[in-house]
Amino acid sequence: MIYNVASLLTGSPGDSEQYEIENEQIVIDGYSLEEINGSVRLMRTDATVLVSGDFESVTHNSCGRCLEPATVNVNVTMEEEFSPTNTNLMGEKGSRPDEEDYSYDPVLVIDEQNFLDLTEGLGQAFLSALPIAILCKEDCLGICPICTVNRNTIHCSCVESSVDPRWAGLAGLIGKGAESSD
Ligand SMILES: [Zn+2]
Ligand SMILES: [Zn+2]
Repeated sequence: MIYNVASLLTGSPGDSEQYEIENEQIVIDGYSLEEINGSVRLMRTDATVLVSGDFESVTHNSCGRCLEPATVNVNVTMEEEFSPTNTNLMGEKGSRPDEEDYSYDPVLVIDEQNFLDLTEGLGQAFLSALPIAILCKEDCLGICPICTVNRNTIHCSCVESSVDPRWAGLAGLIGKGAESSD
């Protein structure tokens, strides 16, 4: 997902190129985003290249509740401006990003050879789109805290017999009330 944008930089604002992304993969922050598909449009603006596109991907992780394999489909819409290093190609309007500028993002910079690398920016977009809790299924029952079986596959008896300690006292009171009314 690396594009040479030299011709866009030397062109005019509004010029654009379209690329298809097929079955790519990005590994970022311990996540492997696989089967990335989508189409990306690179458009020259006054001083940058605007990257926009819709992408889909699949990531295989372990379920946050039961630790079994979990597959998550994740879709993102990306729209980011990449700043060129070679601003001379853009005429007067090109402006190199100021490294002391708080908004300077080295991920969104076109390198000296005029290559725009989408990998990191797209990977970050996918990361922010991942659910906070990755689950094998929405109603995953998780692991029994008492006997540690996977409650999706084994119905252990400790689930039914255990009483939440916060309610144990209350259960005792109800029992006493029932006795005294006899
Ligand atoms: Zn699970
Ligand atoms: Zn159990």
